[in-house]
Amino acid sequence: MAARNETVAVIGGGLVGCLAALGLARKGYPVTVFEMRGDPRNDVAKQGSLRSINLAVSDRGIRALKYVDEAMAYRVLEDIIPMTGRMIHDLAGNQESQQYGLYGEAINSIDRRQLNIRLLEECENINKELGKTMVDLRFHSKLDDLKMGEKVTIISNGESFQFDFIVGCDGAYSATRSKLQKHVRMNYKQEYIDTCYVELSIPAGPNGEFLIDANHLHIWPRHEFMLIALANHDRSFTSTFFGPWGLVEKNLDTGAKALEFFKSQFPDALKIIGHERIVSAFDNHPRGALMQVNCDPYHFSDKAILLGDAAHSMVPFYGQGMNCGFEDVRILLTLLDESSSGRSAAFEKYTELRKDDLKAILKLALDNYKEMSHKVVSPWFLLRKKVDAL
Ligand code: FAD
Repeated sequence: MAARNETVAVIGGGLVGCLAALGLARKGYPVTVFEMRGDPRNDVAKQGSLRSINLAVSDRGIRALKYVDEAMAYRVLEDIIPMTGRMIHDLAGNQESQQYGLYGEAINSIDRRQLNIRLLEECENINKELGKTMVDLRFHSKLDDLKMGEKVTIISNGESFQFDFIVGCDGAYSATRSKLQKHVRMNYKQEYIDTCYVELSIPAGPNGEFLIDANHLHIWPRHEFMLIALANHDRSFTSTFFGPWGLVEKNLDTGAKALEFFKSQFPDALKIIGHERIVSAFDNHPRGALMQVNCDPYHFSDKAILLGDAAHSMVPFYGQGMNCGFEDVRILLTLLDESSSGRSAAFEKYTELRKDDLKAILKLALDNYKEMSHKVVSPWFLLRKKVDAL
Protein backbone atom coordinates (compact mmCIF):
# COMPACT_ATOMS: atom_id res chain seq x y z
CA MET A 1 0.00 0.00 0.00
CA ALA A 2 1.53 3.31 -1.12
CA ALA A 3 0.93 6.20 1.31
CA ARG A 4 -0.93 9.13 -0.28
CA ASN A 5 -0.61 12.79 0.49
CA GLU A 6 -4.27 13.59 -0.12
CA THR A 7 -6.62 13.53 2.87
CA VAL A 8 -10.26 12.43 2.61
CA ALA A 9 -13.39 13.02 4.66
CA VAL A 10 -16.19 10.48 4.44
CA ILE A 11 -19.51 12.00 5.52
CA GLY A 12 -21.69 9.33 7.17
CA GLY A 13 -20.56 6.22 9.04
CA GLY A 14 -23.38 3.97 7.82
CA LEU A 15 -22.86 0.85 5.70
CA VAL A 16 -21.54 2.56 2.59
CA GLY A 17 -19.51 5.20 4.48
CA CYS A 18 -17.69 2.50 6.46
CA LEU A 19 -16.87 0.47 3.35
CA ALA A 20 -15.71 3.61 1.52
CA ALA A 21 -13.47 4.51 4.48
CA LEU A 22 -11.98 1.01 4.59
CA GLY A 23 -11.41 0.92 0.84
CA LEU A 24 -9.78 4.35 0.68
CA ALA A 25 -7.59 3.54 3.71
CA ARG A 26 -6.45 0.32 1.99
CA LYS A 27 -5.45 2.46 -0.99
CA GLY A 28 -3.31 4.60 1.31
CA TYR A 29 -5.56 7.63 1.90
CA PRO A 30 -5.86 8.83 5.52
CA VAL A 31 -9.64 9.06 6.12
CA THR A 32 -11.74 10.94 8.67
CA VAL A 33 -15.35 9.73 9.05
CA PHE A 34 -17.91 12.31 10.24
CA GLU A 35 -20.99 10.55 11.66
CA MET A 36 -23.79 12.62 13.15
CA ARG A 37 -25.10 9.87 15.45
CA GLY A 38 -23.36 8.24 18.41
CA ASP A 39 -21.39 5.02 18.16
CA PRO A 40 -23.99 2.21 17.74
CA ARG A 41 -21.68 -0.13 19.68
CA ASN A 42 -22.35 1.92 22.83
CA ASP A 43 -26.13 1.85 22.27
CA VAL A 44 -26.07 -1.94 22.15
CA ALA A 45 -23.88 -2.12 25.28
CA LYS A 46 -26.31 0.18 27.14
CA GLN A 47 -29.64 -1.21 25.94
CA GLY A 48 -28.95 -4.81 24.95
CA SER A 49 -30.09 -5.78 21.50
CA LEU A 50 -31.85 -3.01 19.63
CA ARG A 51 -34.52 -3.12 16.96
CA SER A 52 -33.07 -3.35 13.48
CA ILE A 53 -34.12 -4.47 10.03
CA ASN A 54 -32.44 -7.17 8.06
CA LEU A 55 -31.18 -6.83 4.56
CA ALA A 56 -30.48 -9.19 1.72
CA VAL A 57 -26.83 -9.02 0.77
CA SER A 58 -26.26 -10.33 -2.75
CA ASP A 59 -23.25 -11.18 -4.93
CA ARG A 60 -23.04 -7.53 -5.99
CA GLY A 61 -22.40 -6.44 -2.41
CA ILE A 62 -20.21 -9.42 -1.50
CA ARG A 63 -17.98 -8.79 -4.53
CA ALA A 64 -17.41 -5.21 -3.36
CA LEU A 65 -16.64 -6.28 0.23
CA LYS A 66 -14.13 -8.83 -1.09
CA TYR A 67 -12.58 -6.26 -3.42
CA VAL A 68 -11.83 -4.03 -0.43
CA ASP A 69 -10.47 -6.89 1.70
CA GLU A 70 -11.34 -10.56 1.30
CA ALA A 71 -10.58 -11.59 4.89
CA MET A 72 -12.66 -8.65 6.18
CA ALA A 73 -15.57 -9.76 3.93
CA TYR A 74 -15.61 -13.22 5.52
CA ARG A 75 -15.49 -11.70 9.01
CA VAL A 76 -18.37 -9.25 8.51
CA LEU A 77 -20.52 -11.82 6.69
CA GLU A 78 -19.96 -14.57 9.26
CA ASP A 79 -23.60 -14.67 10.40
CA ILE A 80 -25.41 -14.48 7.06
CA ILE A 81 -28.26 -16.87 6.41
CA PRO A 82 -28.51 -17.94 2.74
CA MET A 83 -31.97 -17.72 1.19
CA THR A 84 -32.13 -19.95 -1.88
CA GLY A 85 -35.67 -18.98 -2.82
CA ARG A 86 -38.84 -17.25 -1.79
CA MET A 87 -41.64 -18.98 0.08
CA ILE A 88 -45.11 -17.80 -0.91
CA HIS A 89 -47.82 -18.03 1.75
CA ASP A 90 -51.44 -17.91 0.57
CA LEU A 91 -54.49 -16.96 2.59
CA ALA A 92 -55.25 -20.58 3.46
CA GLY A 93 -51.75 -21.11 4.87
CA ASN A 94 -50.37 -23.10 1.91
CA GLN A 95 -46.68 -22.51 1.20
CA GLU A 96 -44.93 -22.65 -2.18
CA SER A 97 -41.16 -22.62 -2.49
CA GLN A 98 -39.83 -20.81 -5.58
CA GLN A 99 -36.08 -21.37 -5.95
CA TYR A 100 -33.98 -18.44 -7.24
CA GLY A 101 -31.75 -20.63 -9.39
CA LEU A 102 -31.02 -24.16 -10.52
CA TYR A 103 -27.74 -24.43 -8.64
CA GLY A 104 -28.63 -23.16 -5.17
CA GLU A 105 -27.91 -19.50 -5.95
CA ALA A 106 -28.85 -17.41 -2.94
CA ILE A 107 -29.23 -13.98 -1.49
CA ASN A 108 -28.29 -13.68 2.17
CA SER A 109 -30.10 -12.33 5.21
CA ILE A 110 -28.07 -10.08 7.52
CA ASP A 111 -28.93 -7.72 10.38
CA ARG A 112 -28.30 -4.11 9.28
CA ARG A 113 -27.18 -2.81 12.69
CA GLN A 114 -24.90 -5.81 13.23
CA LEU A 115 -23.32 -5.31 9.81
CA ASN A 116 -22.76 -1.62 10.55
CA ILE A 117 -21.14 -2.47 13.88
CA ARG A 118 -18.85 -5.04 12.26
CA LEU A 119 -17.78 -2.56 9.58
CA LEU A 120 -17.03 0.05 12.28
CA GLU A 121 -14.95 -2.55 14.12
CA GLU A 122 -13.07 -3.19 10.89
CA CYS A 123 -12.32 0.55 10.66
CA GLU A 124 -10.57 0.19 14.02
CA ASN A 125 -8.90 -3.10 13.09
CA ILE A 126 -7.25 -1.51 10.08
CA ASN A 127 -5.57 1.07 12.33
CA LYS A 128 -4.21 -1.72 14.53
CA GLU A 129 -3.13 -3.77 11.51
CA LEU A 130 -1.27 -0.87 9.89
CA GLY A 131 0.08 0.52 13.16
CA LYS A 132 -1.22 4.05 12.45
CA THR A 133 -4.53 5.87 12.28
CA MET A 134 -5.78 5.43 8.73
CA VAL A 135 -9.48 5.76 9.67
CA ASP A 136 -10.39 8.37 12.28
CA LEU A 137 -14.01 7.79 13.38
CA ARG A 138 -15.72 10.93 14.71
CA PHE A 139 -19.17 10.32 16.20
CA HIS A 140 -21.67 13.08 17.10
CA SER A 141 -20.07 14.98 14.22
CA LYS A 142 -22.69 16.28 11.83
CA LEU A 143 -21.73 17.93 8.57
CA ASP A 144 -23.21 21.40 9.06
CA ASP A 145 -21.64 23.15 6.10
CA LEU A 146 -18.93 22.84 3.52
CA LYS A 147 -16.90 25.33 1.52
CA MET A 148 -15.09 24.69 -1.73
CA GLY A 149 -11.67 26.24 -2.35
CA GLU A 150 -8.20 24.87 -2.97
CA LYS A 151 -9.21 22.40 -0.26
CA VAL A 152 -12.67 21.36 0.95
CA THR A 153 -13.55 22.91 4.30
CA ILE A 154 -16.00 21.02 6.49
CA ILE A 155 -17.83 22.70 9.33
CA SER A 156 -18.95 20.38 12.11
CA ASN A 157 -19.86 21.31 15.71
CA GLY A 158 -18.53 24.83 15.08
CA GLU A 159 -15.06 23.57 14.08
CA SER A 160 -13.45 23.72 10.60
CA PHE A 161 -11.53 20.85 9.02
CA GLN A 162 -9.73 20.81 5.66
CA PHE A 163 -9.44 17.91 3.24
CA ASP A 164 -8.33 17.32 -0.34
CA PHE A 165 -11.65 15.70 -1.17
CA ILE A 166 -14.84 14.41 0.43
CA VAL A 167 -17.05 11.37 -0.15
CA GLY A 168 -20.71 11.94 0.73
CA CYS A 169 -22.27 8.76 2.16
CA ASP A 170 -24.84 10.47 4.36
CA GLY A 171 -27.95 8.69 3.16
CA ALA A 172 -31.18 9.57 1.39
CA TYR A 173 -31.53 13.02 3.02
CA SER A 174 -27.86 13.81 2.32
CA ALA A 175 -26.61 17.20 3.53
CA THR A 176 -23.50 16.75 1.35
CA ARG A 177 -25.73 16.47 -1.72
CA SER A 178 -27.75 19.56 -0.89
CA LYS A 179 -24.57 21.60 -0.21
CA LEU A 180 -23.04 20.38 -3.49
CA GLN A 181 -26.07 21.57 -5.42
CA LYS A 182 -24.78 25.13 -4.92
CA HIS A 183 -21.62 24.27 -6.83
CA VAL A 184 -22.81 21.84 -9.52
CA ARG A 185 -25.64 22.05 -12.05
CA MET A 186 -27.02 18.86 -10.55
CA ASN A 187 -30.21 17.25 -11.83
CA TYR A 188 -32.05 15.95 -8.84
CA LYS A 189 -35.27 14.00 -8.38
CA GLN A 190 -36.98 12.87 -5.19
CA GLU A 191 -40.21 10.89 -5.32
CA TYR A 192 -42.23 9.32 -2.48
CA ILE A 193 -44.25 6.21 -3.30
CA ASP A 194 -47.63 5.53 -1.76
CA THR A 195 -46.36 2.72 0.44
CA CYS A 196 -45.57 2.71 4.11
CA TYR A 197 -43.80 0.01 6.13
CA VAL A 198 -44.08 -1.23 9.70
CA GLU A 199 -41.49 -3.51 11.28
CA LEU A 200 -42.62 -6.64 13.09
CA SER A 201 -40.87 -9.71 14.42
CA ILE A 202 -41.44 -13.45 14.61
CA PRO A 203 -39.81 -14.95 17.72
CA ALA A 204 -37.89 -18.22 17.85
CA GLY A 205 -39.99 -21.26 18.77
CA PRO A 206 -40.30 -22.62 22.33
CA ASN A 207 -37.26 -24.87 21.80
CA GLY A 208 -35.21 -22.13 20.17
CA GLU A 209 -36.09 -23.32 16.66
CA PHE A 210 -37.01 -21.39 13.51
CA LEU A 211 -40.80 -21.37 13.19
CA ILE A 212 -40.68 -21.24 9.38
CA ASP A 213 -37.93 -22.28 6.98
CA ALA A 214 -34.85 -20.10 7.53
CA ASN A 215 -33.48 -20.44 4.01
CA HIS A 216 -36.31 -18.66 2.23
CA LEU A 217 -37.44 -15.08 1.91
CA HIS A 218 -41.04 -15.44 3.10
CA ILE A 219 -43.72 -13.44 1.31
CA TRP A 220 -47.43 -13.18 2.06
CA PRO A 221 -48.55 -11.41 -1.15
CA ARG A 222 -51.99 -9.83 -1.01
CA HIS A 223 -51.90 -7.59 -4.12
CA GLU A 224 -52.39 -4.14 -2.50
CA PHE A 225 -50.26 -4.98 0.53
CA MET A 226 -47.87 -7.71 1.67
CA LEU A 227 -45.88 -9.09 4.54
CA ILE A 228 -42.32 -10.40 4.28
CA ALA A 229 -39.94 -12.13 6.73
CA LEU A 230 -36.18 -12.78 6.74
CA ALA A 231 -34.40 -15.04 9.22
CA ASN A 232 -32.03 -13.84 11.94
CA HIS A 233 -29.12 -15.69 13.45
CA ASP A 234 -30.91 -16.00 16.83
CA ARG A 235 -33.69 -17.99 15.04
CA SER A 236 -36.17 -15.16 15.09
CA PHE A 237 -37.36 -13.44 11.89
CA THR A 238 -37.59 -9.77 11.12
CA SER A 239 -40.84 -9.19 9.33
CA THR A 240 -42.07 -6.10 7.50
CA PHE A 241 -45.61 -5.13 6.56
CA PHE A 242 -45.92 -2.95 3.43
CA GLY A 243 -49.17 -1.24 2.44
CA PRO A 244 -50.63 1.99 1.07
CA TRP A 245 -50.58 4.99 3.43
CA GLY A 246 -54.38 5.32 3.23
CA LEU A 247 -54.87 1.76 4.51
CA VAL A 248 -52.31 2.09 7.30
CA GLU A 249 -53.38 5.55 8.49
CA LYS A 250 -57.14 4.93 8.38
CA ASN A 251 -57.61 1.19 8.99
CA LEU A 252 -54.46 0.13 10.84
CA ASP A 253 -53.97 3.14 13.10
CA THR A 254 -54.38 1.12 16.29
CA GLY A 255 -53.07 -2.25 17.42
CA ALA A 256 -56.64 -3.53 17.93
CA LYS A 257 -57.60 -2.77 14.31
CA ALA A 258 -54.36 -4.32 13.04
CA LEU A 259 -55.08 -7.49 14.98
CA GLU A 260 -58.47 -7.93 13.26
CA PHE A 261 -56.82 -7.21 9.90
CA PHE A 262 -54.12 -9.84 10.50
CA LYS A 263 -56.77 -12.38 11.56
CA SER A 264 -58.43 -12.06 8.17
CA GLN A 265 -55.41 -11.43 5.91
CA PHE A 266 -52.43 -13.24 7.49
CA PRO A 267 -53.90 -15.91 9.84
CA ASP A 268 -50.86 -18.23 9.58
CA ALA A 269 -48.41 -15.37 10.17
CA LEU A 270 -50.46 -14.15 13.14
CA LYS A 271 -50.10 -17.57 14.78
CA ILE A 272 -46.32 -17.31 14.82
CA ILE A 273 -46.01 -13.55 15.41
CA GLY A 274 -48.49 -13.61 18.29
CA HIS A 275 -51.44 -11.29 19.05
CA GLU A 276 -49.54 -9.14 21.56
CA ARG A 277 -46.67 -8.45 19.19
CA ILE A 278 -49.02 -7.28 16.44
CA VAL A 279 -50.92 -4.98 18.80
CA SER A 280 -47.73 -3.57 20.29
CA ALA A 281 -46.08 -3.04 16.88
CA PHE A 282 -49.03 -1.18 15.38
CA ASP A 283 -49.53 0.83 18.59
CA ASN A 284 -45.85 1.78 18.96
CA HIS A 285 -43.64 1.27 15.93
CA PRO A 286 -43.02 4.18 13.60
CA ARG A 287 -44.44 4.11 10.07
CA GLY A 288 -41.62 4.26 7.52
CA ALA A 289 -41.87 6.25 4.28
CA LEU A 290 -40.29 4.99 1.07
CA MET A 291 -38.81 7.23 -1.57
CA GLN A 292 -36.53 7.27 -4.55
CA VAL A 293 -33.75 9.80 -5.04
CA ASN A 294 -31.54 10.15 -8.04
CA CYS A 295 -29.13 12.85 -9.12
CA ASP A 296 -26.63 13.51 -11.88
CA PRO A 297 -23.73 14.24 -11.86
CA TYR A 298 -22.61 12.52 -8.66
CA HIS A 299 -19.44 14.58 -8.32
CA PHE A 300 -17.97 18.10 -8.24
CA SER A 301 -14.59 18.52 -9.97
CA ASP A 302 -11.97 16.52 -8.01
CA LYS A 303 -13.37 17.73 -4.69
CA ALA A 304 -16.49 15.73 -3.89
CA ILE A 305 -18.40 12.61 -4.84
CA LEU A 306 -21.66 11.04 -3.62
CA LEU A 307 -22.06 7.30 -3.01
CA GLY A 308 -24.83 5.03 -1.67
CA ASP A 309 -28.27 6.35 -0.75
CA ALA A 310 -26.93 9.93 -0.87
CA ALA A 311 -26.68 9.48 -4.64
CA HIS A 312 -29.44 6.98 -5.36
CA SER A 313 -31.93 6.03 -2.70
CA MET A 314 -34.23 3.31 -4.00
CA VAL A 315 -37.33 1.53 -2.69
CA PRO A 316 -36.33 -1.73 -0.95
CA PHE A 317 -38.23 -4.25 -3.11
CA TYR A 318 -35.29 -5.32 -5.22
CA GLY A 319 -33.01 -5.68 -2.18
CA GLN A 320 -30.24 -3.70 -3.87
CA GLY A 321 -29.88 -0.33 -2.07
CA MET A 322 -26.91 -1.29 0.08
CA ASN A 323 -25.60 -3.73 -2.54
CA CYS A 324 -25.45 -0.91 -5.11
CA GLY A 325 -23.86 1.40 -2.55
CA PHE A 326 -21.14 -1.19 -1.96
CA GLU A 327 -20.72 -1.52 -5.72
CA ASP A 328 -20.29 2.29 -5.94
CA VAL A 329 -17.29 1.93 -3.61
CA ARG A 330 -15.73 -0.84 -5.72
CA ILE A 331 -16.15 1.09 -8.94
CA LEU A 332 -14.83 4.34 -7.49
CA LEU A 333 -11.74 2.64 -6.05
CA THR A 334 -11.07 0.87 -9.36
CA LEU A 335 -11.32 4.14 -11.28
CA LEU A 336 -9.07 5.96 -8.83
CA ASP A 337 -6.49 3.19 -9.35
CA GLU A 338 -6.78 3.16 -13.12
CA SER A 339 -6.93 6.88 -13.82
CA SER A 340 -3.58 8.21 -14.97
CA SER A 341 -5.04 11.69 -15.51
CA GLY A 342 -5.97 12.28 -11.90
CA ARG A 343 -8.91 12.27 -9.57
CA SER A 344 -11.02 14.72 -11.56
CA ALA A 345 -11.02 12.34 -14.57
CA ALA A 346 -11.80 9.37 -12.30
CA PHE A 347 -14.79 11.20 -10.77
CA GLU A 348 -16.04 12.24 -14.21
CA LYS A 349 -15.78 8.69 -15.52
CA TYR A 350 -17.58 7.45 -12.40
CA THR A 351 -20.64 9.63 -13.13
CA GLU A 352 -20.57 8.64 -16.79
CA LEU A 353 -20.35 4.92 -16.01
CA ARG A 354 -22.85 4.79 -13.17
CA LYS A 355 -25.77 6.99 -14.17
CA ASP A 356 -27.59 4.68 -16.62
CA ASP A 357 -27.07 1.59 -14.47
CA LEU A 358 -28.37 3.36 -11.39
CA LYS A 359 -31.41 4.76 -13.20
CA ALA A 360 -32.17 1.22 -14.41
CA ILE A 361 -31.91 -0.34 -10.97
CA LEU A 362 -34.14 2.34 -9.43
CA LYS A 363 -36.80 1.38 -11.96
CA LEU A 364 -36.31 -2.35 -11.35
CA ALA A 365 -36.71 -1.76 -7.60
CA LEU A 366 -40.03 -0.01 -8.15
CA ASP A 367 -41.26 -2.66 -10.60
CA ASN A 368 -40.39 -5.44 -8.17
CA TYR A 369 -43.04 -4.26 -5.71
CA LYS A 370 -45.65 -5.43 -8.25
CA GLU A 371 -43.72 -8.68 -8.65
CA MET A 372 -43.50 -9.38 -4.89
CA SER A 373 -46.98 -8.30 -3.86
CA HIS A 374 -48.83 -9.67 -6.88
CA LYS A 375 -47.05 -11.65 -9.60
CA VAL A 376 -45.30 -14.16 -7.31
CA VAL A 377 -48.65 -15.90 -6.98
CA SER A 378 -47.89 -18.31 -9.83
CA PRO A 379 -50.63 -19.75 -12.06
CA TRP A 380 -49.46 -23.21 -10.95
CA PHE A 381 -50.00 -22.28 -7.30
CA LEU A 382 -53.50 -20.97 -8.05
CA LEU A 383 -54.32 -24.11 -10.06
CA ARG A 384 -53.07 -26.38 -7.26
CA LYS A 385 -55.29 -24.54 -4.80
CA LYS A 386 -58.30 -25.06 -7.08
CA VAL A 387 -57.49 -28.78 -7.41
CA ASP A 388 -57.00 -29.08 -3.62
CA ALA A 389 -60.41 -27.51 -3.11
CA LEU A 390 -62.14 -30.14 -5.28
P1 FAD B 1 -27.44 5.12 5.45
O1 FAD B 1 -27.54 3.70 5.87
O2 FAD B 1 -28.67 5.96 5.51
O3 FAD B 1 -26.29 5.81 6.32
C1 FAD B 1 -26.08 7.19 6.28
C2 FAD B 1 -25.29 7.60 7.51
O4 FAD B 1 -25.00 9.01 7.42
C3 FAD B 1 -26.07 7.41 8.80
O5 FAD B 1 -25.27 6.73 9.74
C4 FAD B 1 -26.43 8.84 9.24
O6 FAD B 1 -26.50 8.97 10.65
C5 FAD B 1 -25.26 9.63 8.66
N1 FAD B 1 -25.56 11.05 8.39
C6 FAD B 1 -26.68 11.57 7.82
N2 FAD B 1 -26.57 12.91 7.69
C7 FAD B 1 -25.37 13.25 8.19
C8 FAD B 1 -24.66 14.50 8.34
N3 FAD B 1 -25.21 15.67 7.97
N4 FAD B 1 -23.42 14.49 8.89
C9 FAD B 1 -22.84 13.30 9.29
N5 FAD B 1 -23.47 12.10 9.18
C10 FAD B 1 -24.71 12.07 8.63
N6 FAD B 1 -30.67 -2.73 0.70
C11 FAD B 1 -30.17 -3.91 0.24
O7 FAD B 1 -29.12 -3.93 -0.41
N7 FAD B 1 -30.81 -5.09 0.49
C12 FAD B 1 -31.99 -5.14 1.20
O8 FAD B 1 -32.55 -6.21 1.38
C13 FAD B 1 -32.55 -3.92 1.67
N8 FAD B 1 -33.70 -3.91 2.39
C14 FAD B 1 -34.19 -2.74 2.89
C15 FAD B 1 -35.38 -2.76 3.63
C16 FAD B 1 -35.92 -1.57 4.12
C17 FAD B 1 -37.22 -1.61 4.89
C18 FAD B 1 -35.23 -0.35 3.89
C19 FAD B 1 -35.79 0.95 4.41
C20 FAD B 1 -34.04 -0.31 3.18
C21 FAD B 1 -33.51 -1.51 2.65
N9 FAD B 1 -32.32 -1.53 1.90
C22 FAD B 1 -31.83 -2.70 1.41
C23 FAD B 1 -31.61 -0.27 1.60
C24 FAD B 1 -30.42 -0.06 2.53
O9 FAD B 1 -30.85 -0.04 3.87
C25 FAD B 1 -29.75 1.27 2.15
O10 FAD B 1 -29.52 1.31 0.77
C26 FAD B 1 -28.42 1.42 2.89
O11 FAD B 1 -28.62 1.45 4.28
C27 FAD B 1 -27.72 2.71 2.42
O12 FAD B 1 -26.54 2.86 3.12
P2 FAD B 1 -25.85 4.31 3.20
O13 FAD B 1 -24.64 4.11 4.04
O14 FAD B 1 -25.73 4.87 1.83
O15 FAD B 1 -26.91 5.23 3.95
